[in-house]
Amino acid sequence: MSTPFSFSLAATDGRARTGVIDTPRGQIRTPAFMPVGTAATVKAMLPESVAATGADILLGNTYHLMLRPTAERIDRLGGLHKFMNWDKPILTDSGGFQVMSLASLRKLTEEGVTFASHVDGSKHMLSPERSMEIQKLLGSDIVMCFDECPALPAEDSVVAASMRMSMRWAQRSRDAFGDRPGHALFGIQQGGVNQDLRGESAEALTKIGFDGYAVGGLAVGEGQEAMFGVLDYAPDMLPQDKPRYLMGVGKPDDIVGAVARGIDMMDCVLPSRSGRTGQVFTRHGVVNIKNARHADDPRPLDEDCSCPACRNYSRAYLHHVFRSQEMISGMLLTWHNLHYYQELMQGMRDAIAAQRFDDFVTVFHGLRAEGDIERL
Ligand SMILES: [Zn+2]
Repeated sequence: MSTPFSFSLAATDGRARTGVIDTPRGQIRTPAFMPVGTAATVKAMLPESVAATGADILLGNTYHLMLRPTAERIDRLGGLHKFMNWDKPILTDSGGFQVMSLASLRKLTEEGVTFASHVDGSKHMLSPERSMEIQKLLGSDIVMCFDECPALPAEDSVVAASMRMSMRWAQRSRDAFGDRPGHALFGIQQGGVNQDLRGESAEALTKIGFDGYAVGGLAVGEGQEAMFGVLDYAPDMLPQDKPRYLMGVGKPDDIVGAVARGIDMMDCVLPSRSGRTGQVFTRHGVVNIKNARHADDPRPLDEDCSCPACRNYSRAYLHHVFRSQEMISGMLLTWHNLHYYQELMQGMRDAIAAQRFDDFVTVFHGLRAEGDIERL
């Protein structure tokens, strides 16, 4: 007998919320940050290392996996969890966003999108029905509705037409998903930076009914101020008793600002991608390990961080292996970045539970304003 999918709020502080999503594959503590495992791997990390950083859930990309190695092959091999050796929950996106950003020869109609693969030019089609089929073949625990979103800034009429099609696709996604106990389907609110359109979208989704709701169509070029402007009202248009997921966000201060506005889940490639380009996130802000100032520095990246990169290696070593393009560089820096993100989430969960989230935010910004430790 499997546990059904459910969400329970444990505490709120202002608009910030903390709680737990229960799934048959384990609990997801919220607010939750989901590392991105694009091609069935969080690049440079073993799955057990990702779990050791504190991640309860990963994100997998439908677009990438449908092209290579294909959803059908993953299904034949026992599903995505078994394939990539990750037994905790997995959320998959619908493929819609990446088709629009990565594929070529796209043709968008009411039915769906046809496109050419960026890998080998082969022709493919995604629709609400096909996206639901692929995400089921992958064995995803949290399935996202197939939607479409225009890059911002865009005319209101363009945003409105796109949002209304996404709402028709949301209904088709719901119908195609069917009844799958223990698996969740999330709707995605659209409407750009227009409050009326966001309201219309939230109403349409709530009427259909989903296990969780995403605030979509942000972090697509509008900037932090405009994004926070939307988050000032958009999450509260969605049901209180369901998880709210902000897609594709973000930098640490985006995440803290989003949680302050009532967001429960986020994902971003930033900590893993930055780990491979020498950009390190710390409590004191961003450190660029390729900078020559680290070449003779025997100190850790962050003396209070308990990750392997900080516990066992100097800035000088991390600088050296980055400059030498050694693989361990991406491994250690990605581990540190993911560890930092998960520690940030744990800090917020604790602070919300203790009703001291404002103090947490003040300390967070204060430490960042101080900047990195003095150079030697
Ligand atoms: Zn560290």
